[in-house]
Amino acid sequence: MKVLVLNCGSSSLKYQLINMENEEVLAIGLAERIGIEDGVVKHTAAGKEKVTIKENMASHKDAIRIVLEALVDANHGAIQSMDEIAAVGHRVVHGGEKFSGSVVITDEVKKALEACSELAPLHNPPNLMGIYACEEILPGIPMVGVFDTAFHQTMPKSSYLYALPYELYEQYKIRRYGFHGTSHKYVANKAAEMLGKPLSDLKIVTCHLGNGASVAAVENGKSVDTSMGFTPLEGLVMGTRCGDMDPAITTFLLEKENLDASGLNNLMNKKSGVLGISGVSSDFRDIETAAAEGNERAQLALDVYYKRVKKYIGAYAAEMGGLDAVVFTAGLGENSKECREEVCRGLEFLGIKIDTEKNNVRGKETVVTTDDSTTKVLLIPTNEELMIARDTLELVK
Ligand code: AMP
Repeated sequence: MKVLVLNCGSSSLKYQLINMENEEVLAIGLAERIGIEDGVVKHTAAGKEKVTIKENMASHKDAIRIVLEALVDANHGAIQSMDEIAAVGHRVVHGGEKFSGSVVITDEVKKALEACSELAPLHNPPNLMGIYACEEILPGIPMVGVFDTAFHQTMPKSSYLYALPYELYEQYKIRRYGFHGTSHKYVANKAAEMLGKPLSDLKIVTCHLGNGASVAAVENGKSVDTSMGFTPLEGLVMGTRCGDMDPAITTFLLEKENLDASGLNNLMNKKSGVLGISGVSSDFRDIETAAAEGNERAQLALDVYYKRVKKYIGAYAAEMGGLDAVVFTAGLGENSKECREEVCRGLEFLGIKIDTEKNNVRGKETVVTTDDSTTKVLLIPTNEELMIARDTLELVK
């Protein structure tokens, strides 16, 4: 059985075709500049050369059509016919309070997703466009929605409620939802497997440190707290997002900088984070290079970043009443030994002892602590697409 996994952004579409018999990736690709000029699809089938298809795509429907054509192409394709695609799994960012797990997409689910769009205006509409486009191009093929928020629906109310008037929660559902749930769930499961212990016995802090970044407290396999909140802006310092700050800064800036709501939103989401502090870049590779060359603000951006992650690890260890493992994943977590080392520096009191030799690794499942470290630190490459494909298979079987 082959499952097509789609992740539709506002102007992009990431895809993977996975053979679920052996979980092998048959093809992988990215369509970019959907709805604008100079559209391009980069496509690679297993064992074949990467191809670049230049074609304008007015909508996600065009993009999906080109991707499907690429998948069945005689030269660079991965399957003989579209009939081989048994199901489609869609990444959906926001499932609100309604979805605590993946679901088969029905008319009722689509209505509920439309209703959630207000909570994720940048993400859910393109996710839905992908769903509608697939329905037209692949009629009758079962589709599943896998939500970024679902894994965190196990959080207790004491973790997800903000200290605002309770009526605002009731009226607008203002609460912590948390994101990157598929990734936190995947790496927590993998950590248990690598440690040879049941997930139901473990207290794990999972750190998803990519362009967007979040930390989750996973106790006995359940998310009990996470750093992203009502939106993906809260919590850690990110590439361009500010994360936690005094909420009164917002009203101060509205007055002083003569901003409106969207200007303020733009400042906090696009101009802040390590980019805002360093003035160099939102990419950690550039910042690490600049810091190594003596750029003080680049170093400061890294110091603020690492300290915030450390603070959350400590907070979540306290919240869970212990800590068995810390997992690092996503772009920075998987690739930067400095990041793992600096975040864990001074955490010996929590039983963490980094082994610098073992930690000198990239993108490979590794326990990076010493053998006598009572709390383990693990590097685990995330695989959200595989999780989406597994859930899809499970639900359509
Ligand atoms: P992701 O969102 O998971 O794709 O992560 C992307 C981010 O990971 C990039 O913006 C970089 O900041 C960071 N990253 C990727 N590779 C490296 C690396 N080799 N060293 C440091 N940071 C990296």
